Amino acid sequence: MILTIHRGSKEIGGTCIELQSDNSRILIDFGLPLVDENREQLDSKKIIKQSKEELIKKGFLPRIKGLYDNELPQIDAILLSHPHQDHYGLLSYINPKIPVYMSRGCKALIEVSYFFGQTNYDLGNIKTVKPWRTFKKGDFTITPYLVDHSGFDALAYLIEAEGKRIFYSGDFRGHGRKKILFDNLLKNPPRDIDYLILEGSMIGRDNGKYGTETDIEKELINLFKDEEKLFFVACSSQNIDRLVSVYRACLKTNRTFVIDPYTAFVLDKLKMLSAKIPQYNWNNMKIFFVPNIYTGKMAEGKSLYKFKSAKISYEDIQSMRNKLVIKDTYMTRTIFGKKIALTDTELIYSMWEGYLDDMKQFWEKHEIPIIKVHSSGHAYIAELKSFVQAIKPKYILPNHTFYPEQYSDLLGKNVLLVKDRQPMVL
Ligand SMILES: [Zn+2]
Repeated sequence: MILTIHRGSKEIGGTCIELQSDNSRILIDFGLPLVDENREQLDSKKIIKQSKEELIKKGFLPRIKGLYDNELPQIDAILLSHPHQDHYGLLSYINPKIPVYMSRGCKALIEVSYFFGQTNYDLGNIKTVKPWRTFKKGDFTITPYLVDHSGFDALAYLIEAEGKRIFYSGDFRGHGRKKILFDNLLKNPPRDIDYLILEGSMIGRDNGKYGTETDIEKELINLFKDEEKLFFVACSSQNIDRLVSVYRACLKTNRTFVIDPYTAFVLDKLKMLSAKIPQYNWNNMKIFFVPNIYTGKMAEGKSLYKFKSAKISYEDIQSMRNKLVIKDTYMTRTIFGKKIALTDTELIYSMWEGYLDDMKQFWEKHEIPIIKVHSSGHAYIAELKSFVQAIKPKYILPNHTFYPEQYSDLLGKNVLLVKDRQPMVL
């Protein structure tokens, strides 16, 4: 069998790995790169506007025979780990005849992103898979494992062929709301793994100070107890774990979580997958209607009307401001900034540090304190260590990391450093 990491051996984002046996070829993930060769941040919107030929020429799309639509398909399947663009964002360029395998939650969230124009990928030839249900594709026997990650319904994959067993971790962690999955995997790991393809997003940036999703909930409860204040929370509408933490903290402090229509739409799409995901029509949930591109799109598709019953007006918000927590959006904060002095207000910043620059100016102008409450979507180094100790792979292949050379010091001497596009015989 031949393994080729097309992208990801020394960077976060743009993940794509190929496995080739005598008679079959599969890819794992097909992500949008986040950085260029100088590690400068890339603008994803600019990338997905370019043609396939341009992107291949610039090296953003991998040169893979039989993958694109002007040739006979030679790829048997693409396995997706989770619905983050750096893992699926280039799929709109592939031959639509090639089947793409993913979890139901992954499919639901990519559908949402397609509806709102955040991705060009229209989910052509989709096959949904269930965790721990083994299936065959050509020479490959594939078992998806459900894992804990900030991306919803994320999967790792055990892949077997020609006497070799490969475990692809995908993005994962051991401190989110699905921590139990991580603990179970440590207790009952996949055995006899020859190659562990292991994400290492936190390598190089783990300062040992990050908490768990449960810590986040506790911190939020402590903050929300302050009866004088109105809180805004800045977090991703697709980080379901975090929305649940905010909602639970609201329940425990008798506050109402005021979301925007887009967030309500996302949660509604996942209703069929879990009865535990808070919905717009639950107690302590309201929607503040903001005029933005998302709401416009929902109005066009007539899906906005559905949420009307949960509407809360600006005036109602003002009259009960110390009983609310508002999910921040650009338009929400703009409306509030224009109408009133934002006194007795605090912003809870609960996402990756890198996005703070975009909104900092607004909150600083209004002299609103920014309180950071966050935990990572990725495994901390201690978690990576226990993961490796449990699986005991023959070899570790670094992936989804900026610091592959640190793996051997942190995780063991059996690390193989392979370069992007360099085929390796397993
Ligand atoms: Zn991810």
